[in-house]
Amino acid sequence: KLHNTILELKGNIRVFCRVRPLLSDDAGAPEMKVISFPTAMESLGRGIDLCQNGQKHSFTFDKVFMPDASQEDVFVEISQLVQSALDGYKVCIFAYGQTGSGKTYTMMGKPGNSDQKGLIPRTLEQVFETKQILQAQGWRYEMQVSMLEIYNETIRDLLSPNRSGFDTSRMDNGGKQYAIKHDANGNTHVSDLTIVDVCSSREVSYLLERAAQSRSVGKTQMNEQSSRSHFVFTLRILGINESTEQQVQGVLNLIDLAGSERLSKSGSTGDRLKETQAINKSLSSLSDVIFALAKKEEHVPFRNSKLTYLLQPCLGGDSKTLMFVNISPDPTSTGESLCSLRFAARVN
Ligand code: ADP
Ligand code: MG
Repeated sequence: KLHNTILELKGNIRVFCRVRPLLSDDAGAPEMKVISFPTAMESLGRGIDLCQNGQKHSFTFDKVFMPDASQEDVFVEISQLVQSALDGYKVCIFAYGQTGSGKTYTMMGKPGNSDQKGLIPRTLEQVFETKQILQAQGWRYEMQVSMLEIYNETIRDLLSPNRSGFDTSRMDNGGKQYAIKHDANGNTHVSDLTIVDVCSSREVSYLLERAAQSRSVGKTQMNEQSSRSHFVFTLRILGINESTEQQVQGVLNLIDLAGSERLSKSGSTGDRLKETQAINKSLSSLSDVIFALAKKEEHVPFRNSKLTYLLQPCLGGDSKTLMFVNISPDPTSTGESLCSLRFAARVN
């Protein structure tokens, strides 16, 4: 009974925590262990303890992945959500955490290493495999992909044909507005955004590469911009059953959020200050929205940021949301890790 109440209150929002392994270029001494995992039965696989200045902070999430968890271990836990999108649900999966905590590793993985493929490539493989299987039951699917980034509250199309990776003028949106509109059926339209019909996971891999190129130019030219912007990968799924004429419309959004590290406002000026304010605003709006949804509040402040407004139809209602909170075990990151865990605990 109690269990039911908790599920009801939380609706379709889940929080998974993932702690990455300590890396050779982490600054802190490895013997200074700040993160540990409780072994008591009730929190096994769900609890995480962080020790700061001799004080222990304990958190519990829907799932906690320890540093040795493989990409496959993580994917197994989300494959049901991917199936939901094929069944016609709207799904959002976020990666939240400071820069260097493993968000991109979780979402994309390491290129060129198939064991270390992340959620996005694995999701696509599952989607296209399932599409094949369901064909035998009369299902025909159409899939569409778009990829955008939100930087300083401005949308940028990562698949725009006139934005090659070497285009230095990509700061400029070329007069495009990328205005967000939601229709009565809960579909989102972003004006001028490139939408590509896709038939195989290989095609999507190609698009992902193009998008990555379009972002990475920013890394050197624009102050590691990729960690200062939100990356939103969207797969729209339209399924029609030829014998029953049943239709389903699912959406899968996979989002690599901007780094959550606190950037001191006092030290920033000009563009950097604007950037900082935009990130703080959108991450706190996201937290407010998820919190309001979890609490089933009447007013959900979707319009406070581009990100939450863009995703509005895919958050709340009968849609499904999963937040990964990525944590670095590096002792020099303890303060940031505590902030991330508190953020996640608020929405959990
Ligand atoms: P973020 O996107 O949050 O800034 P990254 O995903 O780029 O962080 O991760 C930072 C570094 O840590 C990268 O070199 C990445 O390959 C490595 N890394 C992250 N998570 C893992 C993991 N679970 N296992 C092995 N290496 C990881
Ligand atoms: Mg990253």
